[in-house]
Amino acid sequence: MLDADFFRRWMTATAASVDREAERLTALDSPIGDADHGSNLQRGFTAVVAVLEKEAPKTPGGVLTLAGRQLISTVGGASGPLYGTLLRRTGKALGDADEVSAEQLAEAFRAGVDAVMTLGGAAPGDKTMIDALVPAVDALDDSFTAARTAAEEGAVATTPLQARKGRASYVGERSIGHQDPGATSAALLVAGLAEAAG
Ligand code: ADP
Ligand code: MG
Ligand code: MG
Repeated sequence: MLDADFFRRWMTATAASVDREAERLTALDSPIGDADHGSNLQRGFTAVVAVLEKEAPKTPGGVLTLAGRQLISTVGGASGPLYGTLLRRTGKALGDADEVSAEQLAEAFRAGVDAVMTLGGAAPGDKTMIDALVPAVDALDDSFTAARTAAEEGAVATTPLQARKGRASYVGERSIGHQDPGATSAALLVAGLAEAAG
């Protein structure tokens, strides 16, 4: 079973990898965006870790809804509300249980990813974070490590796509040949799950 501490470790591991990869995320956002994705998420996840330490929520749902709210309020740009919605909706689906199973997490995460698609209007193949998140959700029924691999492959597979959502869609065909920054950071988020479990 997964308790609040597991979910806190998930957020902490994600914050650490976002820190490590911030320059790369911003570099990916440079040819097809506005070169701020790494700094956006670095600011957001640093604030998430801080608020989780301060408020110390006692349940998995409490950790994720607080983290999501914090992302929405600290990250300007498209990714803040989208990742915020992902975590808030996932947290809401987990309810107020003290512990949840991996199956419950997989189901809740699916609800979270669905909410991101509703909010942002992106479908798989539009070259967004959805291209890493949807394969991850599908693999989450197997294991956290399978989900991590699926997300990483999904992120790499955005390279030949033309962006149809977000800022990268403004550059049209010139978005082809570049890996999507949001799909890349989504793979870090999913990798954080495997790290929290390991
Ligand atoms: P901004 O583009 O506002 O500067 P970021 O650079 O932080 O925001 O985030 C960009 C990423 O957000 C993109 O690489 C993409 O993966 C994701 N994104 C943008 N718009 C959408 C959308 N409508 N649905 C899903 N993901 C999106
Ligand atoms: Mg940007
Ligand atoms: Mg921006």
